[in-house]
Amino acid sequence: MAAAVALVNAVTSTGGDASAGALRRLLRENRFFSEEFEDADAAEFRRWGRTLRPFFEATRLQEATALLNRLMLESPPRPHLSDHGPHGLHLHYAPPSSRLPDRFRATTLMNLAELLVEHGLGRTGVCAAGGCDRVYADTSRSGRRRFCSETCANRTNVAAFRARRKE
Ligand SMILES: [Zn+2]
Ligand SMILES: [Zn+2]
Repeated sequence: MAAAVALVNAVTSTGGDASAGALRRLLRENRFFSEEFEDADAAEFRRWGRTLRPFFEATRLQEATALLNRLMLESPPRPHLSDHGPHGLHLHYAPPSSRLPDRFRATTLMNLAELLVEHGLGRTGVCAAGGCDRVYADTSRSGRRRFCSETCANRTNVAAFRARRKE
């Protein structure tokens, strides 16, 4: 989920960095086999970032559902059981033989679909801070997040506090 958010922000938000180097860094930070990333993959990742943006902007469940259904038809997930890592046997949504952009698409798509099934649209959105167009996904227990970052949350709270004190 964090990887999907980071990609959408890198590609579509003001001041986002979607250079090949930044994309490789993004994959590494989200433990996404960055060593397989080739500069030629960058265009595919950027396209996927733009494709996912409307999901975060969706305000109606029907809209978000239709988008994910369309994407799942276009690139159907191919489930694969894996037991690498500390968590034992678990599902991947693409086999290890598939290309990195395909694995990335399948994984982020299914993670968003699972979040939608579990929580509806309440966990994703565009940052509520004025002038910020970054998206967020909230996987916390409380699920009250409305901002892309602590910085935006604090800035908005300080502004609201000042406005109240002025009144
Ligand atoms: Zn795994
Ligand atoms: Zn923000």
